[in-house]
Amino acid sequence: EAKSVGRSRVRFHDPGVQSILESRFRLEIELRRAIERQELTLVYQTQVGLAGQCEGVEVLLRWHHPELGYIPPSEFIPIAEANGLILPLGQWVMDAACAQLARWSGDPDLGSLILSVNVSSKQFHEPDFVVMVMETIGRHGINPARLCLEVTESMVLDDLDDALVKMTALRETGIRIAMDDFGTGYSSMAYLSSLPFDEVKIDKAFVQKAEHDVSGGEWVIIETIITLSHKLGMKVVAEGVETAEQHRLLSELGCDRFQGFYFGRPVDIDAFARGRAEVFVGQ
Ligand code: C2E
Ligand code: MG
Ligand code: MG
Ligand code: MG
Repeated sequence: EAKSVGRSRVRFHDPGVQSILESRFRLEIELRRAIERQELTLVYQTQVGLAGQCEGVEVLLRWHHPELGYIPPSEFIPIAEANGLILPLGQWVMDAACAQLARWSGDPDLGSLILSVNVSSKQFHEPDFVVMVMETIGRHGINPARLCLEVTESMVLDDLDDALVKMTALRETGIRIAMDDFGTGYSSMAYLSSLPFDEVKIDKAFVQKAEHDVSGGEWVIIETIITLSHKLGMKVVAEGVETAEQHRLLSELGCDRFQGFYFGRPVDIDAFARGRAEVFVGQ
């Protein structure tokens, strides 16, 4: 366990702080080795369209450590962001995702899917981010229009000018850009109109909160997000759809695509390829 390492280092009076620092320190060391030890994998979560057909897929990073077990991205991504490891990590994800797109390219079903990749703020704001993406796409010989990059509002706000330049350059190549986790953070509608997004993903927390507030304010906000996004020519994806009721309500409001446990958990590539042809509506 994490507590057994680092006995000789500075100790804190607060055992909570001590163990947080120790486990964080251990994770940092372990994460450095994770790529070369092949502990990282990708899982794939389907995005279904209005007719219930699989239209897209989000790729999510998984880290299984031989001793520590499964470590969720919410734990290791912030560490990787803070120490710069997110750069090799993010590049590994981009490379593996593009390799997967290349493998699918001739397939009658999988060949038309759009694959979404999460990008972190540090990665996105690196000066050579666009070059890195284009180099990876070129090396795998894939069509840029099949790749979607998911960025968050806070990332964009970290440096609005840089974000605008990069988003414009990426979109000129045909790559799609999604705003992830919309509905959390500031969620300013003004950014939607000033930045060139192809799609907006309504955050799962928001989707789930709104279900209990069908006649209230949350719901009105979702409706407004959808209407505005459509007016701006953007597609709307609902994240974290877990129930038939959420799906029904969101379809009525005009969401274009749905992602969540109701349609399928993130799964490994073989399970994803097996399940892709399923149609979910009416289940
Ligand atoms: P995200 O991009 O918003 O991804 C969606 C998260 O919601 C995923 O969590 C997914 O497993 C989870 N999810 C999907 N459907 C449902 C549902 O119906 N209910 C609930 N409760 N959760 C659902 P995950 O895989 O733990 O990833 C968490 C976050 O970590 C992601 O949020 C993303 O911000 C980040 N992340 C994951 N993979 C990568 C990556 O390759 N690169 C970067 N930079 N960040 C990543
Ligand atoms: Mg995402
Ligand atoms: Mg996210
Ligand atoms: Mg999200």
